[in-house]
Amino acid sequence: MFVYSIPMRNRFRGITVREGVLVEGPRGWGEFCAFLDYSDAECVPWLACALESATEGWPAPVRDRVPVNCTVPVVSPERAYRIVAESGCSTAKVKVADPGSALSDDLDRVAAVRDALGPSGAVRVDANTAWDVDTAVRAIRELDRAAGGLEYVEQPCPTIPELAAVRRRVDVRIAADESIRRAEDPLAVAVAGAADVAVIKVAPLGGVRRALEVAEACGLPCVVSSAVETSVGMAAGLALAGALPELDFACGLGTLSLLDGDVAGASLRPVDGWLPVPARAPEPDRFAEFAAAPATRLRWEQRVARVTAASPA
Ligand SMILES: [Mg+2]
Repeated sequence: MFVYSIPMRNRFRGITVREGVLVEGPRGWGEFCAFLDYSDAECVPWLACALESATEGWPAPVRDRVPVNCTVPVVSPERAYRIVAESGCSTAKVKVADPGSALSDDLDRVAAVRDALGPSGAVRVDANTAWDVDTAVRAIRELDRAAGGLEYVEQPCPTIPELAAVRRRVDVRIAADESIRRAEDPLAVAVAGAADVAVIKVAPLGGVRRALEVAEACGLPCVVSSAVETSVGMAAGLALAGALPELDFACGLGTLSLLDGDVAGASLRPVDGWLPVPARAPEPDRFAEFAAAPATRLRWEQRVARVTAASPA
């Protein structure tokens, strides 16, 4: 068991350092890195995902590479244009509705992203639950116009009934992310007619096999996204994207650029907007560089022990 600590390039989810645990088993390495605000009970599937990688391995993939999107944070239109142009990706996800920023700024940023991608690219936006229904409907219509057509809008409102209400009033596809990730019942989204697309993450769903079951049961096209893992955890997300029977959209797995370093020299960074589907996680070999301080190490060892105790036998 190895506890790592890697600085983030920018503050993300209120954190500036990414921490987690790498575990080694007969099938290679797995990663447990649930965010610190998750309870032990919520961490159970995250640990199951790490153990699946290390002890069971993954189902056979049906494709050998997956397209990924680049991510555009709340930055100036000029900076947004550069991020997209330099990424080589043909799909961009633009963060919108950030507290303290105006819709007019989002419109300018989205238009710059369209310029950078050209007419054949895809622009999606993520509001991270920020809007109420009326605000969402208005904003989505304007963003759709500024973007010359949106691929989808991710989680415009907090609740499933709100998503369903927005979906009835706009032509743009609605993607559910937060509603699936921490929901008691990930399938409620589909049942309520609340989304056209499901954003799925391998760790909170308990591993590749369990996530494939959820994808099949919800019956929606899926986008696989990361939880900002190192290359070890990212490999599990790629295994899921590689094994989904259908993959209609670029995945949110190009997130290693958010970290200021990686535990594996053979890092899973996208090339021209694509990532390979690996057979197993890359071997971590940067232990000395990213070893956590003793107090952090102890905190994670204790967390793993508690989550193991909370897990079904
Ligand atoms: Mg999201």
